[in-house]
Amino acid sequence: MRQAVFIYSTESEKYLYPPEHPFNTIRAKRVREIVSSMGLLSDSGRSEVAPVAAERMMLKKFHTARYLHALKTAAAGHWSAEALEMGIGSSDCPVFKGLYEYAVLATGGTLAAAKMILSGETELAFNPSGGYHHAGPELAAGFCYINDVALACIVLAEQKKRVLYLDVDVHHGDGVANAFYDRSDVLTISLHQNPKTLFPGTGFEHEIGTGEGKGYCVNVPLPVGTYDQAYMKAFEAIVLPLMKAYNPDVIVFELGADALAGDPLANLSLTNNAYAEIINHLMNFGKPILATGGGGYNVENTVRAWALAWSIFCGADPGEDIHHAVGGVLLESTEWQGGLRDRALAVSDSQRETVMPAIEATIEKIKTSIFPIHGL
Ligand SMILES: [Zn+2]
Repeated sequence: MRQAVFIYSTESEKYLYPPEHPFNTIRAKRVREIVSSMGLLSDSGRSEVAPVAAERMMLKKFHTARYLHALKTAAAGHWSAEALEMGIGSSDCPVFKGLYEYAVLATGGTLAAAKMILSGETELAFNPSGGYHHAGPELAAGFCYINDVALACIVLAEQKKRVLYLDVDVHHGDGVANAFYDRSDVLTISLHQNPKTLFPGTGFEHEIGTGEGKGYCVNVPLPVGTYDQAYMKAFEAIVLPLMKAYNPDVIVFELGADALAGDPLANLSLTNNAYAEIINHLMNFGKPILATGGGGYNVENTVRAWALAWSIFCGADPGEDIHHAVGGVLLESTEWQGGLRDRALAVSDSQRETVMPAIEATIEKIKTSIFPIHGL
């Protein structure tokens, strides 16, 4: 079995976004409590690593010095108009106590994962406190300040690894897609709610990269109401053939859980069974996986999805072994009967009639524009 590393620092529990903000850092702590109670942080090739803050020289591989300075000084109480121009202190990206420390510690976790994968210490690392895919070199956006996933891709690509960045967060992974828009050594694939109906408003099928990177940026916009079977149809038709053709050395997987039904900020209708299926596909591919958290604003659903993800990563899928379902009694959700897997959701006729044709059209567009570049 593969060595799987859960990345978590209790230090991060000190830092909280403002109470009115939808981003809840408690999610990672809750995931850890559950998987720990299930015995999934020790034995049988599983371990836990506490990361340290990312060093500034690492952050500068993606962010500008000007931005890092503004972020640090704003977090220390010296906020400026210049910082706001870079998104620091906006309603989405407020300045709060410990902001800088939190962001660099979360990033340290994702970079520790990259380092362990590069050294061969592990083939699978999960940082539920990571996944800040919207941040730009000089931009805080969409609750993200430091783009840990872009940095991980940079670090892996520097060591000549072919990287597949796969982003299943409900929002377009714009910060990462932009970072590698003209490069072919990092293939970015983002599946997300149609940008016409959701932040950040980018991520259409025609955004396919430029120059060397043409065909190495893949966007799969999904209609409101997209359900498991429709999502998996898109995944299997697009992601699987591209993954096989590209044949990455490593997969960086942004596992935002805001595409789940019931997320207060988005409008897709997935259950965590779709995520489980995706993870099984990635595991079967047999390459190292660096997984992170991301969005997910229904805390209960997000926590359960990430606990399920970890259980699959470390070879203990509760869907296959009912004994692990007892871990679920820790959760408070009244919606849920036990175990980590969601119940299947009914799909209405009108949902089927609107969602499937839109997804089929998207698959065709991508097959036409992207597949020939990869010899498919
Ligand atoms: Zn999101």
